[in-house]
Order: sequence, then C-alpha cells, then structure tokens
Amino acid sequence: MPSKTRLKLVGAALARVRGRPGPVRFLSHAASRAARGASIMTTETLGRVAVPLAATLTAIATSPVLNRVSAGAPFVVFHLAVIVSAWFGGLLGGLLSTLAAVVVVDLLFLQPYYSLGVARIAEAALLGIFALTASLISYLVTRRKRAEERLQYALEASTDGLWDWNIAAGSVFFSDRWLESLGFTRDERPGSMAEREKLVHPEDRPHMQRLLAEHLAGHTPTYECENRLMTRSGSYRWNLARGHVVARSADGTPLRMVGTDVDISERKHFELALAASEVRFRRMAEAAPVMIWLAAEGQGRTFFNERWLAFTGRTLEHVLGQGWLDDVHPEDRATVVKGFQEALAAGAVFRCEYRLRAAEGAFRWVLDSAAPFETDGGAKASIGSCLDITDLKEIEAQRAALVREQAVSHAKDELLAQVSHELRNPLMATVLWVDRLRDSAREGPPLQRGLDAIRRLTHSQLMLVNDLLDLSRLLFGKLSLNMTQVDLPRLVNTTLELVRGMAELKPVRLEVSIDRLAGPVRGDPERLQQVLWNLVTNAIKFTPSGGTVTVRLGRTARCVRIEVIDTGRGIDPEFLPYVFDRFRQQDAEAQAHGGLGLGLSLVRELVELHHGTVRAESGGERQGARFTVDIPLAADVESGLAAPE
Ligand code: ADP
Repeated sequence: MPSKTRLKLVGAALARVRGRPGPVRFLSHAASRAARGASIMTTETLGRVAVPLAATLTAIATSPVLNRVSAGAPFVVFHLAVIVSAWFGGLLGGLLSTLAAVVVVDLLFLQPYYSLGVARIAEAALLGIFALTASLISYLVTRRKRAEERLQYALEASTDGLWDWNIAAGSVFFSDRWLESLGFTRDERPGSMAEREKLVHPEDRPHMQRLLAEHLAGHTPTYECENRLMTRSGSYRWNLARGHVVARSADGTPLRMVGTDVDISERKHFELALAASEVRFRRMAEAAPVMIWLAAEGQGRTFFNERWLAFTGRTLEHVLGQGWLDDVHPEDRATVVKGFQEALAAGAVFRCEYRLRAAEGAFRWVLDSAAPFETDGGAKASIGSCLDITDLKEIEAQRAALVREQAVSHAKDELLAQVSHELRNPLMATVLWVDRLRDSAREGPPLQRGLDAIRRLTHSQLMLVNDLLDLSRLLFGKLSLNMTQVDLPRLVNTTLELVRGMAELKPVRLEVSIDRLAGPVRGDPERLQQVLWNLVTNAIKFTPSGGTVTVRLGRTARCVRIEVIDTGRGIDPEFLPYVFDRFRQQDAEAQAHGGLGLGLSLVRELVELHHGTVRAESGGERQGARFTVDIPLAADVESGLAAPE
C-alpha cells in the first residue's frame, strides 16, 4: 500500500474520533495533513506536543538536582510540568505528564531504586496523592482553558465589542473587536472609562451618565444605553452599550464592570426613518379634509385624526379601542362591526355606510372605506377614511322622491288614458246596440242578443268603476268588511255561474273541484266573491280558446285554500314579483285584453283584510299560471290563531 494512501486511511479513521480533544485530534489532523503532503509540524503541533514534552522532560532532568535540595522539591517541579502540559496539550497532555512524573519519581527517588515497585506504604500513598492532585489539576486547567477559548471564540464571532472596567484600579480593557469596530489601534485606545465617555455625543452624555450612575449605585440590574459614539475617524455611530457590575466590595462599592458596545446604526436609522414617516403620516392625516382612523387586529382602533374627534366631540382616549362604537347608530352597529371584522380578517377592503352621532347629538350618514395593510410586526391592520354623506343622501332621497312622484304622475296620466279608453269602448258598443235595437224595433227583433251585449258591456263598466271606487276607499282607509260565516262551496259555484258566459264565449273549459269539508271561514262574502271573480276572469282572459281554467276549493291544516289554475299565456318570471302591484300589466298584449292593472292589487288587499295570503306562480311564457289564496279557518280567526301558513 503506498504510504500516502495509508496515511489517508489513518486520517479518515481518526476523523471519526475527531471532536475528542488533545492528541487524538492532533494525530487526525497530522495524518490528513501528511496525506495532503503538508508539513506535520505546525505552530499548533508545537503548542500541543512539544511544549508539554519539553516541560515534562525539563522536570525529569532537574528533579535529581532538586531532590538533593529537598525531598519534596521534585513534586513541585512535576506539578509545574503537569500544569504547563495540561494548558498546552489538554487533559491527555496533563495526564501523560502526570504518568511520566509518577514513573520517574518511583524509579529514581523511591526505594527500591530503578524498579517500579514501592517499598514503603507511606511513599506509595504519597505517590498516589500526587497522581490524584496532578490529575485534578490537569482537569481543572483544561476546563479553564476551554472556557477561555470559548469566550475568545464568542468574542471573535459576535459583533459586540467587549470592555472590562476595573473600577477600583481605574483601568479598562477593550477587546480586539471593540477596537476594530471603532477604528482604533491598541495604542490609540481610550486609556480609561472616562476617556471612553468623551467619545459619547455631548447631547447624549448626560443621559448616559445618569443611567451608568444608577447602575453603579445598584438601582438597576443592568446598564443599557443607546447613544451616539464617536469613532476614530471623528464620525458618530449609533451604539448600544450593555453592561453589568460583576464585583462589589462588602459595602456595595462597585469594583469591576463588564460590558459590550454594539453598532446599531442601521437599526437606528431605520427607526428614525420610520418615526419621520410616522410624523409625515400624522401631519397628512391631520390636514386631510376627511376623518381618518387606523385599526389593528385584536386592538380595535389605534388612531383617529383631529377631524374625527371634532366631528364626534369626543376625546381620543374615549374613541380608541372599541369606544368609537358608542357613536355608531345602535341599528347599524352590528353590521358595521361584522363587516369590518370580516374585511380585516380576510385582508380585504371594507366599505360601509352607517349613521354616526355628531357632536351636536344628531346622527349623520357617513361613508367609511378602509384598505388593509400589515404592521411591522406582521399583524393585520387597516387604514380608513370616513366622509359625511348626509347632504348627498338627502339629495339622493329628494331625487328618488322626485322620480317616484314623476312615476306616479305618469301612472296617473296613463290611468286617465286607460280609464277613458276602457269606458269609451263599452259605451260606444252600448250606443251601437241601442241604435240597432231602436232600428230593429221597426224592422224585426234581434232583441235578446242586443240586451245580452248591453248587459255584458255595462257590467264590465260597472266592475271597472267599482274597482276604482274600491281603490279610493282603500287609499282613504274607508273600506270596511261585513264579516259573517261564509259558505265557500256555494260562493264558488255562484261566482262560476257569473263567468260561465265569458268562458263559453272564448271558448275556455271551466273545471271545478270542491272539497265539501273545506270548512267555514269568516269573511265578507261580497269581497271574497270579488277576489274569486277577479282571479277567474283574469284566468279566462289570459287563456287562449281551447284552454282550461280550473278552480279548486280545498283546505290545509289551518286554512281554506282556493286555487285558480289556467293553461294560458303564463307570467314572465321578471314580472311575477310585481303582479300584485297597482296599475302593473305585463306588456302591451296584457293591455290589449282591457283592464287597468288594478284587479290583483285589490285581490291582495282584500285577502289581507281577511288575514289571508295570496301568491302567484307560473312556469313562464305559455306555461299557464296558478293563483293560490289561503283564508284562515273561522275557528282560528276567533281564537286569534289566524296566521297565514
Ligand atoms: P288587469 O286589469 O290588467 O287584468 P290585474 O291586476 O288583474 O289587471 O292583473 C295585472 C296583470 O297581471 C295583467 O295585466 C296580466 O299581465 C297579469 N296577469 C294576471 N292574471 C294572469 C293570468 N292568469 N295569466 C297571465 N297573466 C296574468
């Protein structure tokens, strides 16, 4: 095996036990260095092996001479050798030196000489005590050395510059890192703590002196101070000094203080920039013509500008956190809080209109909108602005009222046109028939047909005028009901008789299904008939010839139910929600059938006066329609249980 390869193997094997101190590590290093062709003899090698070896050999060489001076002298010199060996060669170095000393003392100074045996027990005990104390010394020296090394490494690795102030002697030690970070050489360094104090910016000095004095007097557990410190070049850097008195005399006088100086310029400049931007924000917030606030998750509101305080007449202390909610209208509070919390948690924009109490006591409408952001600590936060929109709202309301008024006046105009039209057509037809009857009185008799037509036309006019009268009664609250027990099956049959002529004329088939157990209801029979008549005539009107209109009378748990179902043109889903509104007709086709769009609105009013409900359903175009009326049973109305299902 070539020697280089062998050395590599040895190096690898030893590397596994690296981390163990002393000679093993040294041998491992040496083997790998030798494998790389490098010299084994380095300064480290000399320190670790040569110094312990030299110390031990010197002790061995001088011990016979010293033994002649005093029998205990060799032990003293061997102790020195063990200390030196442990310091430079670690625990193993110290122990090897101890072993060498034991062997040499036994061979040279204890009987029998030049043999490893010990004749006297006292001497054997002495040797044992020496071996023990020397081993203990090796252990303690190694520990101390390691602690010092660790401190040294820590100082080298950290950015902290260390100072060690011997207060009693007035001297101070500065570490290399301290000198380096402030640009001093060891010769130029401050000679005392007072000289270091002179490096502190004059403006910061009184504050620093106060903190230091407080700590020296024992009032504070540690000394900590941020100030500007002059470097060798004459410029200032921001410095964080931290220190601690490590020794005091019995009367509490500080004897020694150790501390560090750290360059915090970067952090400080960032903080100062942040503070400047904060000042800029606050100035802007105060100058802005709107109310501005800040909020952070878990803290509520953290800032309000002057304008908010002036608007609400509150102090900042009152409105911070959740206090501002006191001025939000009680009806709006839950919505505002919920909306705001959801937006904050989702990091979304918040926008809400609500009422806020102004200083003079009246509520005003505000538009609040906020944008999310994250604080330096990463917490969710929000910045919002509030605008008084009361005047805007009033203008909007006025405009809406105007639009409504215009719509009403337009509807009135339309109604007038429709009423004239609806009244003129049957009147003209009536006049025509009267003329024909007069002529035919001379010529011969189509009397029956003429009278039928006049009856029908006048009846439709009568219904129209009745509807209008009912509407005005409803509007003036003068519509009263003549309540009595109503026999609905009979009422259905008589109503259907009234419309049968109209259905046959089309023709549309009329079907009826009556549940005899439908039960009595309390109501105004005339009004209930009007309801049914309206629904059935509509169904016939909007069902083409050949279609079917079905009237069903049945019941549910608490109501009597009347259903009018047709197979006609159906109701557009967009129009369906407005079908019961006054003067609403689906389209021109609906208008062409006559009517004013009043019937269904009266139906609803009348049904509601009976504590009932009415609803319309339709699958849409040409899908037919179904109107369902529920009237509470008489028994329930009397017991006050009547509530529409
Ligand atoms: P009108 O006098 O116009 O019939 P209504 O108030 O009775 O007034 O009805 C309002 C509108 O509802 C009608 O113009 C029509 O468009 C629609 N409508 C009512 N009933 C039906 C139905 N059975 N089928 C289709 N559309 C209907």
